This record gives sequence, C-alpha cells and structure tokens, in this order.
Amino acid sequence: MRARIAVLPGDGIGPEIVAQACKVLERVGEVFGHDFELVTGLVGGAAIDATGSALPEETQALCTGSDAVLLGAVGGPKWDDPRLPVRPEQGLLGLRKLLDVFANLRPVRVSPYLLHASPLRPEIVSGVDLVVVRELTGGIYFGRRGRYNENGQEHAFDTEDYSRREIERVVRFACELAKQRRKHVSSVDKANVLESSRLWREVATSVFSQYPELESEHVLVDACAMFLIRRPSSFDVLVMSNMFGDILTDEASMIAGSMGMLPSASLGEGRVGLYEPIHGSAPKYAGQDVANPLATILSAAMLLRYSLRLVQEAEAVESAVEAVLREGYRTRDIYSGAPEEERVGTERMGTLVAERIGA
Ligand code: NAD
Repeated sequence: MRARIAVLPGDGIGPEIVAQACKVLERVGEVFGHDFELVTGLVGGAAIDATGSALPEETQALCTGSDAVLLGAVGGPKWDDPRLPVRPEQGLLGLRKLLDVFANLRPVRVSPYLLHASPLRPEIVSGVDLVVVRELTGGIYFGRRGRYNENGQEHAFDTEDYSRREIERVVRFACELAKQRRKHVSSVDKANVLESSRLWREVATSVFSQYPELESEHVLVDACAMFLIRRPSSFDVLVMSNMFGDILTDEASMIAGSMGMLPSASLGEGRVGLYEPIHGSAPKYAGQDVANPLATILSAAMLLRYSLRLVQEAEAVESAVEAVLREGYRTRDIYSGAPEEERVGTERMGTLVAERIGA
C-alpha cells in the first residue's frame, strides 16, 4: 500500500526518538512491500523559533493531507515561562482539535522481561494488559476559565463541561475496543460529587446497556487510583474524562516501569490518527543518545494498526520490541545491571528493533 505519514519530531529528545520510529517504519515498508512517504514538519518550540507559531499553517496542511501523524514531544526550558503568549503545547492541543481526535488510547502492557523495572512488586504487575481511553477534546482543559475579584480576594476558576454527545462517543469507542479484547470495561468518574460526572455515569450506563456481551462497571476516580496500584491486572479497558485520564495514565505508566515504554494513539471519527509516546521531551537527555525510543516505536506500531489497518505489520513491530528485550538490550531507564543485560543508546535500540522485523 501507499501511505503518507506526517512526521513531527518536535523538541528535546523528540528528533532522536522519532528518527528510530522512522527507521522501523522504513524497514516495515521494505519487508512487507509498502510505500510509506514520511514527510517531516515543524511543531512546538522548534516551530515557534522558526515561524512564531507552535502549529504553523504548513504543518496543519501536512497533517490533514496525510494518512496519519507521528509526533515526538514538545516543550523545553527555553519556552517554559507560562506567561509567554505562544507556547509549545499549543501545537499539541491545536493538533488534537484540528484532527478532532477525541479518544486517546494508552495501552499499558508489562513485558515479562521488564517485571523488575516497575516500582511495584513483580507479582502485582505480572500479566498487566490494560488500555486507558482518555477523552481528549473536552472537559476542564477546554471549559470556561477566568479570574475575578470578590471581597478583596482574587479567585480563579476552570469549568468541567461535557455534552451527552462527547461522553457517548468516547464511551462507545471504549466498548468497541473492549469487544476486541477481554470484554471488560470500567467507566471512571466522580459521580458522588460532580454534576458533570453524574451525566457521565448516566450516559455510560445507557451505552453499556447496548453492549450486553461486555462486563461493565463504574469506578470512582479516587478508588481507581488505588486499584491501579493494588490490582492493575484486573482491568481491561478504562474510559474517563480528559483530566482524570491525564492523571491516571501517568500513574498507570509506572506499572510498566518507565515512561519510555508507553505509546499512545489519538483517534476520532476522521481518517487521520495522531500517534505519540506518552512522555514529554525530557530536555535533560536531548542529544545524548540515552532516551528510550521504544514508546515511539510502539506508537508507530499503533499507527500501522489503527490508521493503516496493517495488523500483521503492527504485530511484527511489537514482536521485534519483545525480541530485543528478551535478548537483554536495555536503554538506561530500564537497565537494572543484571548480567544478562546490555546497555544500549537510542540509535542502537532503534537499529536492533528494525533488524528484527522480518528476520
Ligand atoms: P518528561 O516526560 O519529558 O520527562 C519526565 C522524566 O521521565 C524524565 O526526566 C526522564 O527521566 C523520563 N523520561 C521521559 N521520557 C523518557 C524516555 N524516552 N527515555 C528515558 N527516560 C524518559 O516530562 P517533564 O520533565 O515533566 O517535561 C519536560 C518537557 O516536556 C516540558 O517542557 C513539558 O512541558 C514537556 N511535555 C511534553 C509532552 C508532550 O509533548 N506530549 C508531555 C509532557 C511534558
């Protein structure tokens, strides 16, 4: 097949890790006979420096005219001042809105070869295979906000605001995903306190009733934070609002041991999906060849599966990652010093994975 993939390296370690994912995609193209056109564009701080905008029009046109977008990460100390009018994360939020990708999928799967990389006990993390579906284009990050003065005190507020339609489509998305997995879905809310969560639960209950083949449950977000540590392997698909998802996915990432292992896909009803590692631009590691590229490589595998419908190719990439880990290769973040392990840099890790595709 022919496919055009927009590649946005971004800032910090972004260019290094994205280069490894591109190496892997090119290898998949060679082995399986596909013609992938990888076209690079500017986003985040790099785009601000070059054009004054975090998401230049040229990048927007590139993304909407492609089959999928692969992104590294944005941000860094140079642009970190929250008072700056133009900031790198505007590029990311703008891209999500532009592509209308309302469902952010974050799988957490623990490799049997990395049980000891997690701060949790191996018997707790062994066998964990869950996906968090985070609502991405609504909620408190987009609701009304402001500041005002009352009785001589400065106040600030942000509004959690969801429509039935926004909740319905993301819960349905989670149910469809659960159907292809272990048929269990958990909706996470704070319905004992928040009105927006009461609507969320009402809509989720109604969507669940249309999926009698699924086992479904509602979990309060505070309890969910605890269960993710105590019994993470009991979850299959979890669905939640934008802010709850932001927080719980970082918590869930620790189950797998390193942020450098976790991919993500952002999807909507449109054609173009956005794929990126869940971590940021780790500026202190930029240019040192120490960052773990596996989260970005696994994001490329999700791109093959969800945007290009190349399931066999996606599995080939995931198996290659497992093979490299089984053989003992580790970047610094997942290296434990055990005798069977060999520490490798970003570039070498990418090459090792690429070599194992079709080998
Ligand atoms: P971060 O995810 O960049 O780094 C947190 C820590 O995780 C790092 O210190 C590092 O130890 C580790 N880490 C992350 N990715 C790794 C990798 N691939 N390999 C090895 N270790 C890795 O988060 P931060 O330090 O809070 O933020 C740094 C910058 O990234 C900030 O400017 C922030 O705004 C930005 N950020 C961007 C995104 C994004 O682009 N999606 C997300 C979060 C943060």
